[in-house]
Amino acid sequence: MSAKQMCQSCGMPLSKDPQGGGTNADGTKSEKYCSYCYQSGEFTFNGTVTEFQEHCRIKMKEGGHSGFMAWLFSRGLKRLERWK
Ligand SMILES: [Zn+2]
Repeated sequence: MSAKQMCQSCGMPLSKDPQGGGTNADGTKSEKYCSYCYQSGEFTFNGTVTEFQEHCRIKMKEGGHSGFMAWLFSRGLKRLERWK
């Protein structure tokens, strides 16, 4: 797994995922999505990219990030594979 590999749903580097990635329906590790976004072959959050951006902004602010950082981060989401 390369260090640059990131979750194609939320953009988090998979190397920072404590579980090392989400799980596919057959129980294998996903190399595309993190464990927060993807469990047993299903996305944990279902909705539009706009809803997901809002969801991430709230989570980041809860985690102590500034509103600006949260906004900057959420802007990048649309470039990820899941939202194309
Ligand atoms: Zn993710």
